[in-house]
Order: sequence, then C-alpha cells, then structure tokens
Amino acid sequence: VTATEGRCVAEDPPLALARYRAGLRAFLSSDRSLDAWRGAAEPSVEAMLEAHSALMAELATTGWSRHGWPAEAGGLGGDLRHRAVLYDELAAHDLPVPAQYALLETMAPAMLNFAPSLARKFLPAFLNGGEWWGQGFSEPDAGSDMASIRTQAVRDGNRYVLNGQKLWTTYGATATRLMCLVRTGEPSSRHRGLSMLFLDADSPGVELRPIALASGRNEVAEMFFQDVTVPCSRLVGAENDGWAVAMYLLQFERASYAWLTSAVLLAQLRRLRRELAGYGELAARTFARAYLDVVALRCSSIATVRRLADGETVGPEASVDKILLARAEQSVFDAARQLLEPVLEIGGAGVDAWRADWWYSRAATILGGSVEIQRSIVADRLLRLPRE
Ligand SMILES: Cc1cc2nc3c(=O)[nH]c(=O)nc-3n(C[C@H](O)[C@H](O)[C@H](O)COP(=O)(O)OP(=O)(O)OC[C@H]3O[C@@H](n4cnc5c(N)ncnc54)[C@H](O)[C@@H]3O)c2cc1C
Repeated sequence: VTATEGRCVAEDPPLALARYRAGLRAFLSSDRSLDAWRGAAEPSVEAMLEAHSALMAELATTGWSRHGWPAEAGGLGGDLRHRAVLYDELAAHDLPVPAQYALLETMAPAMLNFAPSLARKFLPAFLNGGEWWGQGFSEPDAGSDMASIRTQAVRDGNRYVLNGQKLWTTYGATATRLMCLVRTGEPSSRHRGLSMLFLDADSPGVELRPIALASGRNEVAEMFFQDVTVPCSRLVGAENDGWAVAMYLLQFERASYAWLTSAVLLAQLRRLRRELAGYGELAARTFARAYLDVVALRCSSIATVRRLADGETVGPEASVDKILLARAEQSVFDAARQLLEPVLEIGGAGVDAWRADWWYSRAATILGGSVEIQRSIVADRLLRLPRE
C-alpha cells in the first residue's frame, strides 16, 4: 500500500485486512483534500447526497473503497470485512460514511448474486458515486406484509409493462435507478408471484415525489409507475423468483447496515462527549448506557459480518442485529436529547443536525422491517417458540 502517495495500490489483491486498515488510516489522517468533508453538516438531504457522492468518487479514485468488492462491481477483491473496516475508519476520522453506502450494501450483493451481467454494467457507477439507487419494496398496503405487493408487471414479449405505486423509498426522489419488487404472477399468488426488476428512474411513466419526514428533510419518496416499459433483461433473478432475491437482500440490509450504522453511532457518541461541557454523575450514566447499547450491537454484528463475508447464509439471525441496531440508535440520540436539553428542543447553532438525527432515529424501529416483525422472526424461526 503506497499510502504516502495517498493511493491504495495493491499489487496482489485482495489486500490483507491488517495492511488495508493501516494504509487506510494513514491516508485518512494525512490527506488534506478530505478536510472539506470532515465534520461537515449538510443543510438538506439533497446537499448531503451530493457531498457524499463526491466523497465516494474520491475514495474510489484513490482505490480505498474498491477493496471489499469484486471486479464485476469495479472493485479490487476482498469482502465485507474490508468494507466494515472502511466504515469504521471513515467514522473514526471524523468523516461521513456516505449515506449511499447503506443502499449499496443493501442492493449490490443481491445484484452480484442474481444478475452478474447487470452488476458488471451498473455497479461500478454506484461504487464510484456517479449514481445511487432506490429500493422499492414497500407500498401503501404492503409493508410488513410484503407478500401482498400489488405493483404489477405484465409480460409483453421481451418487456414488462409496469403499473402501481411504491412508498417510503429511501433517497428515492433523486435516485438514478430503482430495484423494485413487483407482481408478475396472479394477484393472489402472494410470495410465489413476485419478481425483482431493475429500472431506470428516468423511464417514461415514472414519477418520483419526495416525502419530508418530521425533521423536514426529504429522507424518503413515493414512486408512481404508469405503463412503464422495462426490458426482461432487467430481471434480477428469475421471473417469479423475486421473494428469494428479496430474502437474500434483506440479510445484507439488516446485517451490513447494522455494522455501518454502529460505526456512525460511535462517532456520534464521540461528538456528544466533545460537546458536553462537564460530566455529572447522571450524564456519565446516560452516556455509558448508550455506549453499551452500541457495544452490544457491535458484538453481535461482527460475527454476522464475518459469516456474510465467508459466504454463509445468515437468514433470520440478521433480525437479532436489526433489533439491537434499533435499540442502539434510539439510545444514542435519546442520550443526546437528554444531555443537550433544552438546546435540542429549542434549536440553535449546531443542534439542527442532532435534532434531525434524533427524529430519524424514531424510524429505526420501523425501516428495514419493524422491530415487532423482527421479534416474531426470532421467536418463530430461531427460538422456535410455540405460535400461541
Ligand atoms: C425512514 C424510512 C425509510 C424506509 N426506506 C424504505 C426503502 O428504502 N424501501 C422500502 O421498500 N421501504 C422502506 N421503508 C418502509 C419500511 O420497510 C416499512 O415502513 C416497514 O416495513 C413497515 O411497514 P408499514 O410502514 O407498511 O407498516 P405496517 O406494516 O402497516 O405496520 C404498522 C405497525 O403494525 C405492526 N405490525 C404489522 N404486522 C404485524 C404482525 N404480523 N405482528 C406484529 N406487529 C405487526 C408493525 O410492527 C408496525 O408497528 C422505510 C421506512 C422508513 C420509516
């Protein structure tokens, strides 16, 4: 690793993890061009995504974010462990973990596994910050009950004609492409009649509308499809096999996202500690409780990351990480709210980001599958508790 030149050049990829981490640390702490992103708080989701895609471009150009991804994705080899180190080190160096990485972590493994030719064509642009994608699963009447999805794709020769609506798509309003779970079978076919389609957001008949959450930030979107034409070559997996693709994807959405977010939460705790003028006994206890929740998450998550990196199927166990993640996220921002009170409630310089993050943390028990659903998965499929 020639970290002195600020570039990550591996003669013999994949780079061993310890060398990768050491080189990355040297780069992140010495490269002054990164200072523009250090500690930055963007005023809107749109500005944040723009700044984060510029950082993704920088990390891809210098090679550091290309470790952990295979050549088909524009990567240099390695696995999820390299990506986990990248997220840890970015957060530890007061840099944002680009928000788009969470979407990449969610959708890229499924595309690599089920549609390698689409991956080769489209993933490199995502990895280098040139674009980001929306994950279109949820609908107005199909959230927890995903098998009741109604958005319909009707086969017409070598294309599908898509009609319907998706809801709550993270960063959907500005996404370039969309990975959507749609119905290709009979309306009553439940999970057996679903397919995963990958489409361009600028296709005629697609309408994307941003939704501002309680923070006022456009975190999510609703998407409308009216007679949208999608070539059959854009299927991810086989027709009517979308449920298997979605289940594969969800383990990454729950598990990789949990590790990535844990790195961000540790950085938030460091920031909170800096902002607290002095420690009282109560502050120390509140802070410690939040810290332990993050540590509990990381203890569980590290094992999951290793298993996914080794190519194992994690399946329902990813729900444990998702439950711990929701708890840790809310605990950290509740601690901030309690300790920075009443500033967080009233507002003022420097607290807007805390307030937006506190609001967003309320969604931690809902997005990616609600915590009640995760507990049911743990009860039914891991603990095998009796139904009653
Ligand atoms: C910030 C945010 C970002 C999101 N991003 C995306 C995205 O990018 N892509 C996407 O497809 N979706 C996204 N979602 C949607 C998310 O996946 C759904 O909100 C979630 O699955 C819950 O579905 P729902 O909102 O329809 O609620 P419902 O399914 O209607 O659930 C309402 C309540 O009932 C409970 N409930 C429902 N069924 C059961 C049951 N069987 N047992 C016990 N309790 C139950 C739930 O736990 C919940 O508390 C996002 C949501 C949020 C808030």
